[in-house]
Amino acid sequence: MKTIAAGNSEKEILQAADILRAGGLVVFPTETVYGLGANALDDSAAAKIYAAKGRPSDNPLIVHLADPSQAADYCYPTPLFDRLAERFMPGPLTVILPKKACIPDTVTGGLATVGIRVPSHPTARALLRACQLPIAAPSANLSTKPSPTKAEHAVRDLFGRVDMILDGGPCGIGLESTIVKITGEDSMTLLRPGGITYDQLCEICRNVTVDKAVYTKLGENEKAEAPGMKYRHYAPSAQVIVVDGPHEAVVRYIKQKSSDQFCGVICFEEDKACFSEPVFSLGSRSSTEQQAQRLFDCLRAIDEQKEIERVYAFMPETTGLGLAVMNRLVKAAGFLIEHVKEEM
Ligand code: AMP
Ligand code: MG
Repeated sequence: MKTIAAGNSEKEILQAADILRAGGLVVFPTETVYGLGANALDDSAAAKIYAAKGRPSDNPLIVHLADPSQAADYCYPTPLFDRLAERFMPGPLTVILPKKACIPDTVTGGLATVGIRVPSHPTARALLRACQLPIAAPSANLSTKPSPTKAEHAVRDLFGRVDMILDGGPCGIGLESTIVKITGEDSMTLLRPGGITYDQLCEICRNVTVDKAVYTKLGENEKAEAPGMKYRHYAPSAQVIVVDGPHEAVVRYIKQKSSDQFCGVICFEEDKACFSEPVFSLGSRSSTEQQAQRLFDCLRAIDEQKEIERVYAFMPETTGLGLAVMNRLVKAAGFLIEHVKEEM
């Protein structure tokens, strides 16, 4: 397939909208990560997304809208959805609600619910307005690769597999949207942490439960609430090991473990000088924003250094956006966490 690599001018966005209306695939920037979009009302267009990514057919797509007021055309919103929409949309939040019949089963991986999101990125918004369609889009990476936070990541994974790639520069947040499932009048479950934090959700809703799969690996027979959670996402080919414990003890442990030439380190800027190459810095220990923005780029950089077999990573703070950083890092590690203690 011929892929058009484009910027994000008005003319290029109009061309992308034409491609979507004709049933094609367009990669576009959002404030979270790059998305791989198709017409969410067209079963065969949505099927092309799964083929292009090599994505399992039971892993549903998120439906992107220009405005939250359109949600009622595609699902059954509740007053809690309206409160969330008023506060957080447009923005990095996906809300799961029962779907209407116009959304094909292909889009929802056979589920009776649909994920609704209204992105805030100007290019995504312009594209949604221009095509006048809901756009079904997962992240624009090959299945099992980290989500793309730059157009060049999507080019590497999907060039020749999609019709057009719009480049809008690096994504602001760098991790996928927060996903919540509404479970009652004033209750919901946080299925995936992201740019809208647990504390922010608690300001709008009294009962916010964090799904177990955010912290722990699901057992063989456990069913994932968000089907994406059962797949080993974001995993570089090297084994990632997350190290948790008192700071000094973690530094000492990683220093000792990472001394051989096939080991890499993912750390914070402040600790970088303690280790020899290859070292990948996530930015300042105190900036979860920087860590979120850099994590996937780091994981891709690790994949490019084929000689690296193991990577030791510092456990990030889990407050605010840090919960999302921790979740993606721990998933990249296949939930392999080493706990170290202070030496007596
Ligand atoms: P991606 O944007 O690539 O991370 O993919 C979208 C993710 O949204 C999927 O992996 C699912 O985990 C989640 N998702 C989308 N729709 C639903 C739904 N109806 N129920 C639960 N999770 C969903
Ligand atoms: Mg994805």
